[in-house]
Amino acid sequence: MNTSLDTRLAAAIDARRDDLTALCADLIRIPTLNPPGRNYREICGYLAERLAKSGFKIDLVRAEGAPADSAKYPRWNIIARREGTRPGDCVHFNSHHDVVEVGHGWTVDPFGGEVKDGRVYGRGACDMKGGLAASIIAAEAFVETCPDFAGAVEISATADEESGGYGGVAYLAEKGWFDPSRVQHVIIPEPLNKDRICLGHRGVWWAEVETKGRIAHGSMPFLGDSAIRHMGAVLEEMEATLYPLLASKTTAMPVVPEGARQSTLNINSIHGGEAEQDEDYTGLPAPCVADRCRIVLDRRFLIEEDIAEVKAEVARMMERIKATRPNFDYEIRDLFEVQPTMTDPDAPVVTTVAQAIEKVLARAPEYVVSPGTYDQKHIDRIGKLKNCIAYGPGILDLAHQPDEWVGIDDMVDSAKVMALTLAELLAR
Ligand SMILES: [Zn+2]
Repeated sequence: MNTSLDTRLAAAIDARRDDLTALCADLIRIPTLNPPGRNYREICGYLAERLAKSGFKIDLVRAEGAPADSAKYPRWNIIARREGTRPGDCVHFNSHHDVVEVGHGWTVDPFGGEVKDGRVYGRGACDMKGGLAASIIAAEAFVETCPDFAGAVEISATADEESGGYGGVAYLAEKGWFDPSRVQHVIIPEPLNKDRICLGHRGVWWAEVETKGRIAHGSMPFLGDSAIRHMGAVLEEMEATLYPLLASKTTAMPVVPEGARQSTLNINSIHGGEAEQDEDYTGLPAPCVADRCRIVLDRRFLIEEDIAEVKAEVARMMERIKATRPNFDYEIRDLFEVQPTMTDPDAPVVTTVAQAIEKVLARAPEYVVSPGTYDQKHIDRIGKLKNCIAYGPGILDLAHQPDEWVGIDDMVDSAKVMALTLAELLAR
């Protein structure tokens, strides 16, 4: 890398510190709650105005027909591109603009964008409007400092990451926006901490398991067959055999936190018998034997595992119960699945960001893998682009929590890393 250029870029980022803080706060003040997907057009409009002023060509893309897209809640995305002066690679920063619900326990206005004690507070501060703001500042500082660069810089802000990304990156990837012929390097500024490079994520299988029974009067349960008792047998068998089996499966993937460096299984929900009534219902429930009971499984699996075997483990467990328990009947329905992915640590985007982290922070980066998935899954599977990582400011544990915040120093440092990365890839 060119030392004097690095120094000038770092100074250009420092000079934009207040701009970066204000940009992050402005983005937080647009409450892009998902679900249902509020204010997507507004945030894309805000970004379009800003980036057009910085010389970026703007495309606003609505994911028409994608899940959850409607006239009331259209799924808007923005892609901003600034061309260099000669041919070269395209470096793309992808952030999701949606945020999750607020929840309880806040002591600040979740959409106030309050700045205090070197932090910006609000829903989405770390996940991931801080990262989006840092990438914009990095790109603006880079194109101004190095106007004669090769290739192109792209910034996208996309919808629905928190609900699967189908109205966002998945849609754009289907339409060719992440084709390796137009984009060569992708950085997703999710809050993984400014000194960590996230190479990928574990796999996911969600499934609904239903046990079946027969309804009868609750005073004569022997005339029916309780699906809830059958589900009890399933839960017992899980504790006895499935959980110990999963705990024995560990991975070479550097997953953080370390507890996720094995196969895991959560039971996301359980429902049996009569549906729960609305809170304003003042009567009593009716006495019935439950004729069905359902659980939703959230199985996270490792790059060393095969999804067919992940499913077979559960199927075998259910068959074991069926073999010994009278009248046991069940169904398993697949809901959702994502393959694990891990970018090669020797990929150009990884080595370049690693080098920039060493320059800016004077320490070697840590390589990590995310316990849960994020939009890399679509870039990898649909877009067929392997040269992709997550790198951005913010502390992962604060995501989705009350009083979420992002540190201003962290945003500044990661913006420097991003700008130096652009310089290395596009202005050598
Ligand atoms: Zn996120």
